[in-house]
Amino acid sequence: MNVTELARRLRVNTKELFELLPQFGFDIGARAIKVDPRTAQKILREWPKLYRGHQARLEAERKAKEKEARKQQMQESGPIKLPPVMAVKDFAVRLDIPVNQVVAELMNNGILATLNERIDYNTAAIVAEDFGFVVEPESTVEETVETQADKNLKEALTSTDDNDLQSRPPVVVIMGHVDHGKTKLLDAVRETNVIDTEHGGITQHIGAYQARCRGRRITFIDTPGHEAFTAMRSRGAKVADIAVLIVAADDSIKPQTVEAIQIIQALNLPFVVAINKIDKPEANIEKVKQDLAQKNLLPEDWGGKVVCVPISAKEGTNLDQLLETILLIADMEADNIKADAKRLAIGTVIEAHKDSSEGEVATILVQSGTLKINDILAINEAFYGKVRAMRDWNGVGVKSVPPGTPVKVLGWKQEAKVGDILEVVESVKDLSIKKVKKQGSSQRSTINVIKQDESDDDDEDKFRVLKIVLKSDVLGSAEAIEESLEKLEIPSSVKYKIVSKGLGNITEADILQAEGSDAVVLGFNVQVPITVKNLAGEKRVQVETYKIIYELLDLVKDKINSMVEIEIKEVDIGKIEVIALFKRNKTGQVLGGRVKSGIIEVGSHVRLIRDNLDLARLKVAGLQSGKEDVKDVEKGTECGIQLEGKFDVEEGDELEVYREERIEKKVK
Ligand code: GDP
Repeated sequence: MNVTELARRLRVNTKELFELLPQFGFDIGARAIKVDPRTAQKILREWPKLYRGHQARLEAERKAKEKEARKQQMQESGPIKLPPVMAVKDFAVRLDIPVNQVVAELMNNGILATLNERIDYNTAAIVAEDFGFVVEPESTVEETVETQADKNLKEALTSTDDNDLQSRPPVVVIMGHVDHGKTKLLDAVRETNVIDTEHGGITQHIGAYQARCRGRRITFIDTPGHEAFTAMRSRGAKVADIAVLIVAADDSIKPQTVEAIQIIQALNLPFVVAINKIDKPEANIEKVKQDLAQKNLLPEDWGGKVVCVPISAKEGTNLDQLLETILLIADMEADNIKADAKRLAIGTVIEAHKDSSEGEVATILVQSGTLKINDILAINEAFYGKVRAMRDWNGVGVKSVPPGTPVKVLGWKQEAKVGDILEVVESVKDLSIKKVKKQGSSQRSTINVIKQDESDDDDEDKFRVLKIVLKSDVLGSAEAIEESLEKLEIPSSVKYKIVSKGLGNITEADILQAEGSDAVVLGFNVQVPITVKNLAGEKRVQVETYKIIYELLDLVKDKINSMVEIEIKEVDIGKIEVIALFKRNKTGQVLGGRVKSGIIEVGSHVRLIRDNLDLARLKVAGLQSGKEDVKDVEKGTECGIQLEGKFDVEEGDELEVYREERIEKKVK
């Protein structure tokens, strides 16, 4: 076939063809005029895929260049400040980028937003960063302070001058958009590769487990992906060594995928992409790769660095390949995946709850040192108990736990929180604080998926509490909503409490949780499946979903306002001296009085004062000034007063007259 004919059929010019063919692995010579029929057929067959990859690469390069240029620019100009919530068009103005490009980029991130629609800060930040901007919140958000425990953990994980360092199992976390198969993958690995302990046992969900591949151990964190990560991210310390970014081949990149990428990049975590659900007929692996390339994550087979493993968690396809890839990454990171097994244990709480029979329990990922029975547990230098017993992910008792291993620990005297750093100490004497207040263990908020906080139930007598089950599409919006809620100036007689929060659509479990705690379910950018809606109707649980944070806040304000107690303030307006008693009737007494000060109005209230004692509360039902019915009487006037109330007034009593003012302290 003539080269010109080939170029015509491929719809490129010959110059481009000569440039691209060698890049695509076809060597036809720089001056060839003809191509042999077999090569020509092969080129024609493979061209579309190769050319798409090429274009994606070019596009990624163009974007990367643009981004780089902006980054340079940013270094001079400093970050762009963005408000917590903004309309898409205002956002475009701030970035000085045509609004259609902003809308397109939002769409790339799975967010369909029109010009006037509002987006929250985190969404905006993701998009702005995609363009190469550096942004920061307009109102300076309080920086999380690094505690001594954070420093100790960091030190324990990074110290290299010790000869005692040995390699430990890598810790892996699976992240990705809801429904892309995190749980299924964790279950599939658990079923086929989990390490059985000698004594058997049945696999238990303790928040993490270990799998075996090629005789080596891999620790998987199996708390819901994002929740585990919030704890980690808020700590700054790393829990996982490697991330598996799971992307469903029939759905490609979605908002939580983008968020997971952000977190992975922020933590500088090595990762592998598991393209899941490849058993589905509508699976499109190439589309996922293309979308990854668009996010500057160029797949390995497209000339980039990102390793993608196509899998089916459902059918168990390529799971071994995925585990092997994880081990390969672990080998490359070997210097960072080491620990000193001989020191006192230090680790992170990855799961914690109260068990009806076992009391407070918590799963610890031991990160350095070895955790043993009778070890003294300390968090933030406070005494938290002593290790009474430990069980692995098979429910089997263990006596000592090496680094890189998760274990359920019993023996807590206080409730540990997800994200807390556990440090074993030699002696209780080493602890500066012996006891912490309830709830005081973690200074930071962590997403606590299910638990309803029982510890401050006693507050509820004092406060009327609006309880909220909060579900949102991405962590960013959850954080933006919580931040906005915190900023509401709520009257002291009322408070709100988020009894549970999570990502993804509203589920039946959310409804049951709300029913149990008498809460309202608020969803942001999530759906309510019809079965869930029906259940909510049946259980009389209020479920509201929003696309705009302000509207969600408005509902919270309305609800809070309807709960506000009305405060009644007494405003003194005048004083009367009782000078004569006339008659008593069914509703009260008629008497004569002199207004000593101020003014008296019909309808005003009266404190009856005798011998300086406040004896009764009465009401002015009528006033007469010289035979005439009047509405009010002023200082110095003598008048007839019809007093309502069941208390006998005597001559010489003083009546303090006041007006009742209702003060409703509302949320503005
Ligand atoms: P998660 O929200 O990311 O934990 O997702 P799940 O693991 O709960 O999976 C969501 C849905 O996708 C479930 O109905 C799974 O059965 C299904 N699923 C997960 N992995 C696969 C897969 O490899 N193939 C198919 N066909 N379905 C899958």
